[in-house]
Amino acid sequence: MKNLLPENDKGTILIVDDDPMNIDIIAEILGKHHDILFATNGKDAMKIALSEVPDLIILDVLMSEMDGYEVCKKLKANTIISDIPVIFITGLSNVADERKGLEVGAVDYITKPISPPIVNMRINNHMKLTRALKKLSELSRTDGLTNLANRRYMDERLEKECLGMRKPESPLSFILIDIDYFKQFNDTYGHLAGDGCLIEVARTISQTANRSTDLVARYGGEEFCCILQNTGNERALKLAERIRANVLAQKIRNEDSDVNEFLTLSLGVATILPNGNFTPDEVITIADENLYTAKTTGRNKVVWKNCIE
Ligand code: GH3
Ligand code: MG
Ligand code: MG
Repeated sequence: MKNLLPENDKGTILIVDDDPMNIDIIAEILGKHHDILFATNGKDAMKIALSEVPDLIILDVLMSEMDGYEVCKKLKANTIISDIPVIFITGLSNVADERKGLEVGAVDYITKPISPPIVNMRINNHMKLTRALKKLSELSRTDGLTNLANRRYMDERLEKECLGMRKPESPLSFILIDIDYFKQFNDTYGHLAGDGCLIEVARTISQTANRSTDLVARYGGEEFCCILQNTGNERALKLAERIRANVLAQKIRNEDSDVNEFLTLSLGVATILPNGNFTPDEVITIADENLYTAKTTGRNKVVWKNCIE
């Protein structure tokens, strides 16, 4: 998951206007404090918005081919970029135009002739707001101790995956991971050391399940999980086995464990086709049953079930 925005991030603004002179004028006003991207038509604007995901978009209304209202509608219809605030800067100054701009989803509407200090201050206000919202949204899906995705975000993602909207014919795997004898670890080394251990284990799991599409989350307490897109039983099993081996290789002492002098994990794996036949609860239950089997048959192992014929 992306880290929190650095404080010194200038933020990126995409300026869309079919007249390069206008782009120059606005870039001159905003370029000192922000990184500027530009496009001279709606098609390029969409392309750049999708590839660069700027913090804010400034749109002209009157453009040949696709007008600003159309561009705004398109931006708002795409979930990847729909949250980026759009501001119109335009020569159209009557109430109906302004209303239309706000109706298609813009957060602000600035009419020409523009006053550079006013534009600067208004854009800065919007940038501050955007930044605060982004931080809030990141915090709401991050586990405070480990910085992994939290349970809420994991639940959301698994729900979406199981609906099969993305690629119902491509396998989905889920790994549930539980630290063995972690109560003993806390009892022996103290709760703070326990917290440090959870951070270490979280890092090792993230470094092992490291495809951009792998989601590693803290499931709760000393339990973690991975949602693995496009991952059949074979890769899931190998990955789970690597996670087990990598954490063991860290040689984190857990001398009162009954399995090993070093910290070990038990893992349960479920592999399904995300075609709507399995609910998230069912997927978690399968992995949990396998995890339980791992726990009751010696711990420090991976147990799996492939639900794809
Ligand atoms: P098992 O091998 O059967 O999983 O045994 P276990 O001791 O790992 O499992 P149990 O459920 O008995 O204990 C889990 C422990 O994890 C107890 C709880 O205090 C500890 N724990 C949960 N969350 C945290 C946390 O955020 N920090 C620390 N330090 N400990 C935690
Ligand atoms: Mg547990
Ligand atoms: Mg445990």
